[in-house]
Amino acid sequence: MKTYNFSAGPGVMPEEVITTIKQEFENNERSHMSIVEISHRSKKFQNIIISAEQKLRQLMQIPDDYAVVFLQGGGSMQFEMMPLNFATQHQNIAVLDSGNFSKKAEEAARQIGKNTTILASTKDQHYQKLPTLPSNFDASAFDYLHIVTNSTIEGAAFHQANLPQTSGRLIADMSSNILAEPYNVSDFDAIFAGGQKNLGPAGVTVAIIKKSWLAEQDLTGVGPMMRYQNHIDKQSMYNTSPVFSVYALDLVLSWVIEQGGVAEMHRQNLEKSGKLYAYLDQSDFYTAPVEKTARSLTNIVFTTGNLERDKAIAQQAEAAGLFNLAGHRSVGGFRASLYNAQPAAAVDALIAFLQKVEQNA
Ligand SMILES: *Cc1c(COP(=O)(O)O)cnc(C)c1O
Repeated sequence: MKTYNFSAGPGVMPEEVITTIKQEFENNERSHMSIVEISHRSKKFQNIIISAEQKLRQLMQIPDDYAVVFLQGGGSMQFEMMPLNFATQHQNIAVLDSGNFSKKAEEAARQIGKNTTILASTKDQHYQKLPTLPSNFDASAFDYLHIVTNSTIEGAAFHQANLPQTSGRLIADMSSNILAEPYNVSDFDAIFAGGQKNLGPAGVTVAIIKKSWLAEQDLTGVGPMMRYQNHIDKQSMYNTSPVFSVYALDLVLSWVIEQGGVAEMHRQNLEKSGKLYAYLDQSDFYTAPVEKTARSLTNIVFTTGNLERDKAIAQQAEAAGLFNLAGHRSVGGFRASLYNAQPAAAVDALIAFLQKVEQNA
């Protein structure tokens, strides 16, 4: 039986990439030694990391004034690294709270930017809507505004068309929808994304940094590993790079380019998520509670309204080859993650299963 993996992270990777990794692993074509056994300073690995950067630049049309670095520590470390490097003037970070990961970023930021402020939150609406910037928001009093483009747990997203408009600096956590839909990099001053949702395996985190903004910062008291500049100067090899994760990321980026780039991924993701939302919306049995204009393309959240029943159905789905459909432990219900590597056939199989459950209910 064909099985499908709807995990929110680490998430599904392209089948072709997994096959390539398997084939290359023991006798890597590019090294004649496996990728986890070579120096990160070897020419072979340097070529991989340079190629990964070039591909990401091509895919996201990253302007020259932005540096790209590959780091470790996950999205969570960026919650601290961003404030350390960029909250140097006002020690004041503005946060739009659109879900669990904005809250976590805010808690970390508060340790550094003492005056960190949540400008607006949709917590009371269970994050089923997006928070909006207050009309009296004074960007000049803050170092930057932090947003999460896609709330992985609750399923609401700021798409390019509904990004908050600020005259100040903007940092985005794109961990769960980078390369899934287009964003204008120049609308942001920094972007980060952990690898394991839509880019590859865990262990590598991408940061995209506006160099001219970084150059303005006084980093007295910030340790060397936490300074973006050190990683930029050493082309992401300030210390040992996560070689395997960068190698796999490079393969995923090649795969995205072969598929037709971000525009094509976006088209497919609109189609996949649109099909699932359309089914859920016409159903009397399931509901997708996130406001339509704010719906995520990558994490589709839904429920029958009975969390115990949802849990039983998600369990039952495994027998039909559909894995990891249970919602995050903090919200329950269902969450179908439809990252770039999720084939359209997975959505068809999921809808067929949900229909059958509905008919028998
Ligand atoms: C998963 C996730 C994170 C945290 O990533 P880690 O790699 O576990 O630190 C942060 N932000 C978003 C939006 C995420 O989806």
